[in-house]
Amino acid sequence: MSRRPLVAGNWKMFKTRGEALAFADGLKQGLGTSGDVEIAICPPFTSLDVLASAFAGSGVGVFGQNGHEDANGAHTGEISMEMLVDAGASGVLLGHSERRADNNETDQALARKVPAALAAGLTPVLCIGESEFERDSGTTKAVLDRQVLEGLSGVAIGDFAKVVVAYEPIWAIGTGKSATPEIAQEAHRWIRDQLREICQDAADQIRILYGGSVKPENAAELLSQPDIDGALVGGAALEPDSLLAIAAAATS
Ligand code: PEP
Repeated sequence: MSRRPLVAGNWKMFKTRGEALAFADGLKQGLGTSGDVEIAICPPFTSLDVLASAFAGSGVGVFGQNGHEDANGAHTGEISMEMLVDAGASGVLLGHSERRADNNETDQALARKVPAALAAGLTPVLCIGESEFERDSGTTKAVLDRQVLEGLSGVAIGDFAKVVVAYEPIWAIGTGKSATPEIAQEAHRWIRDQLREICQDAADQIRILYGGSVKPENAAELLSQPDIDGALVGGAALEPDSLLAIAAAATS
């Protein structure tokens, strides 16, 4: 089963709109060198619409970093899936470990957000991953099971193939200490096996991205693993050249 790789850049809380536009110019100049790979940028909300316009017709997608499950309402500081679509987004990160830690985002909340994203026509990227303590205490697989089963519990069987899962071990995010290709592949295989329990053959269509200190230097080895279908990239997604090098590695 061939799955089109997806390389998504998570900008977190970086870049003004002017900086985002300068990045878009640089990225567009290098497109075409990276093969058949889907590229998406996840900027702060303020840059969604300018980036969506800058990337129009280029094939580069723009994703939100979070979305609320309600279409609108009294939720100060939140933004709905419909608003993301209105701003030009085609996907949304959900459950990033920084949001789980900083905003107390629970598996139960994610179980509502993922179907809301799908209903709005967005590609949901459900982020999961264990902490260093959980890995050291041997509970990684139990943690991944819980995050996958609960986070995706609201998805209709026919929608599973549209879901993207990002495996991001927390100990590898922003630390420079990426998982080895073997550790990452073992986790991805485990996740796909769990997905098969809940959505049968659609598990083979679900893209599972690896995230955690992906750089041009380690991307090819990670992305050549059979169950790694792309990358969610933080720090190395802030410069066009390094993101393009990672995208090229996804198809090499
Ligand atoms: C992330 O923020 O999702 C991430 C993987 O960051 P980094 O690539 O910097 O580790």
